[in-house]
Amino acid sequence: MNSQYVVAKFGGTSVADFEAMSRCAQIIKDNQNVKVVVVSACAGVTNHLVTLTKQKDALEERLEIVAAVADIQQKIIDEIALDVDLAQGYEQTFSEFKQLAELPALNKQQCDEMLSFGERFSSYLFTQILRNTGIKSERFDVRKVLKTDNQFGKATPDVAATREAAQHHLLPLLESAVQVTQGFIGSDQYNQTTTLGRGGSDYSAALLAEAIEAGSVHIWTDVVGIFSTDPRLCQMAKPIPRLSFDEAAEMATFGAKVLHPATILPASRRGISVFVGSSRDPLAGGTWIERDKSAVPGIRAVTQRKNQILLTLKSPEMLLASGFLARIFTILSNYNISVDLVTTSEISVALTLDNALNASRPELDQDCLDELNEFCHVTVENNLTLVALIGSEIQLKQCELNLMQTLSDFDIRLICHGASKHNLCFLVDQADSDTVVQTIHQKLLEVA
Ligand code: ASP
Ligand code: MG
Repeated sequence: MNSQYVVAKFGGTSVADFEAMSRCAQIIKDNQNVKVVVVSACAGVTNHLVTLTKQKDALEERLEIVAAVADIQQKIIDEIALDVDLAQGYEQTFSEFKQLAELPALNKQQCDEMLSFGERFSSYLFTQILRNTGIKSERFDVRKVLKTDNQFGKATPDVAATREAAQHHLLPLLESAVQVTQGFIGSDQYNQTTTLGRGGSDYSAALLAEAIEAGSVHIWTDVVGIFSTDPRLCQMAKPIPRLSFDEAAEMATFGAKVLHPATILPASRRGISVFVGSSRDPLAGGTWIERDKSAVPGIRAVTQRKNQILLTLKSPEMLLASGFLARIFTILSNYNISVDLVTTSEISVALTLDNALNASRPELDQDCLDELNEFCHVTVENNLTLVALIGSEIQLKQCELNLMQTLSDFDIRLICHGASKHNLCFLVDQADSDTVVQTIHQKLLEVA
């Protein structure tokens, strides 16, 4: 039985420097059930790597970025003295990184190779920190077990292959030492490096927990759980102690990116509980996400996602025709584009895509737009924010009146409700969205 096993994941800010890493080591020391540790790249490193994949800068500037990455890590190395095995591995990996950065152009596979270095570096350093804290630990290359397809930049995990490999290569190691491994990266069937998309380390942790049949995943980040809204925006925002898998999936999809949305999939498939807490303040509690048949009805949170693209596709041919939607979605799926909201009228379809800042690939490909333009008129609008009310059994009547009155001053572009009882979403101008969220939180969530 591995159900007492815990997979602990530490995000970029939790492993940002020596002090932050040392706090995380203490968390692991305090919980003997932590057998697998998944680390992100040190804060800031992946953004540097994304810049390098764009290869827009001259060699000299690229080497400055390489130096900036080296510097973030060197500050930690200066405090810890790497053991020989880790020092050799780190130096070898660093020289591969530098060589790749010197190339004038990178193909998609090489871009993923480039993006993988942050996690590969931080896992060497973190292993040493655990050893220095008196915890027996080894570094484990996750690419041996986390198998994916070859959609570079946003690969899809192969759950069965990952499970088989993890049972074979990872599970037997857990009795003898804590295994420190990388989030975000994997490998395809030819062992080429792939990545799961920005923020993917949470997802890695849940996939590994599923593969070794662990009982829980602990996501350590820089906030004490998932909040009723972004606390930087509303002083009255409160951490939510418990969420069901469905609510958490909606929060992660539409929300403030505390958790990668796909994390909930493996967890809910296997009933693995997920804890989200702050590595700065581990005793302050956090949010537990669990299978919960009796979720309390009502609105639990309001979230926003900026930088949305609204695509409106119009065609008179759609009138009384069938297959128009299928055609659109086939094209989007060929480009591996995921759509968040959809509304349709007789001759048009509106849909939203997430255009996250610093994404490891652009969400909307020009080739894709060209293909769509062949059979319909496409309009693209930017600078929009998706606002979502999240909860359980959300009924329009609960909030409709209040909501519509509250928002009468704002231009609402599109509303979606009904497909799920866990959310009600709409688009507003990005310039208004902070005020919209503050207003909704105050009117609907701060009532006693
Ligand atoms: N380092 C990657 C990123 O910044 C993955 C992660 O931290 O989850 O997106
Ligand atoms: Mg994250």
